Amino acid sequence: MQKEVSGMDTIVLKFGGSSVADNEKLKIVANKIIQLYNKNHNIVVVVSAQGKTTDKLIKEAQELSKHTEDREMDMLLSAGEQMSTAKLSILLNELGYKAISLTGWQAGIYTNNTNQNALIESIDTSRILKELGQGKIVIIAGFQGINENMDITTFGRGGSDTTAVAVAAALDAKNCYIFSDVDGVYTTDPNKIKDAQKLSALSYEEMLEISSEGAKVLHNRCIEIGNKFKIPIITKSTFNNKAGTMVSDIIEENTTKSIVKKDISRISIIGNGIIRNIENIKKVIQFIDNNKLEILELNVSESKISIVFKNIIDDEILDKLHNLLISKNPTQ
Ligand code: ADP
Ligand code: ASP
Ligand code: MG
Repeated sequence: MQKEVSGMDTIVLKFGGSSVADNEKLKIVANKIIQLYNKNHNIVVVVSAQGKTTDKLIKEAQELSKHTEDREMDMLLSAGEQMSTAKLSILLNELGYKAISLTGWQAGIYTNNTNQNALIESIDTSRILKELGQGKIVIIAGFQGINENMDITTFGRGGSDTTAVAVAAALDAKNCYIFSDVDGVYTTDPNKIKDAQKLSALSYEEMLEISSEGAKVLHNRCIEIGNKFKIPIITKSTFNNKAGTMVSDIIEENTTKSIVKKDISRISIIGNGIIRNIENIKKVIQFIDNNKLEILELNVSESKISIVFKNIIDDEILDKLHNLLISKNPTQ
């Protein structure tokens, strides 16, 4: 029986590579999906390749050739995501829930011709809607689509987040959940700095700055799409039920939200209205002086102070700056 599918009842869930790394983790993921499905939601799931599959495939290809063609790399890497979708679908069907796996092209995801870094041009949702209408859980391979030549394209590292938010936008879904090994977006990388604090909310603009500066927790293009189509993006952990981080339109002025280190000597301090937080800017200048750091470049914009140093910035300096600007001034 075919039912009418409304965007309001539809949610998109994305699970990253570490969340689907092996059969045990796939069972945790399947249980999370089932819990939400039983609350009467239409469920679309986007999955990444399992664990370090993408890294392994790249390494193996590079052992075969120093000049790997982008088209062939897309053909190879897209297979990683395809395997995860089929495994998860097999498991859900075994557990008694109707599921179907779809590659990017089967899900109607059309891109431009830039292999390895393709942009989504349109999504034909008819197949997804048909399967949802039959009560199925639809599982889509992340980070891939098809171009006008019917060649598979991929979206760049971390691109499954972009598949999830783009599909959520195309379906006019209520929310897009990004499940990962961290339970939200933190003030800095929690795997590097122990005092990092989880943020409960961020604006699209702040999150875009954080992602563009290299914090891989969300792919930067997914934030652009979320902002354009006003899809709230909620990051949560696959492995606990703690509240995550909501990325949406809500803007809180004058709080320092995050510090991101990029490469060896660039630091960015991010927060809406940071340009007007004179006290903060003074603290940063004082910090640079006290720690005898030398600046090569300093830029201040509406929501970001970014500094390139002559010195190498190690995690100890990052920790100290985080302590000065954030830990003593909790943002939650
Ligand atoms: P997934 O495989 O689920 O897509 P990623 O590895 O792409 O997950 O992103 C999660 C990782 O992002 C975390 O393990 C963490 O080390 C890193 N990260 C960097 N900066 C941050 C931050 N500010 N908040 C949360 N995680 C961050
Ligand atoms: N599997 C791809 C990667 O490792 C895409 C993703 O995980 O989002 O980059
Ligand atoms: Mg990721």
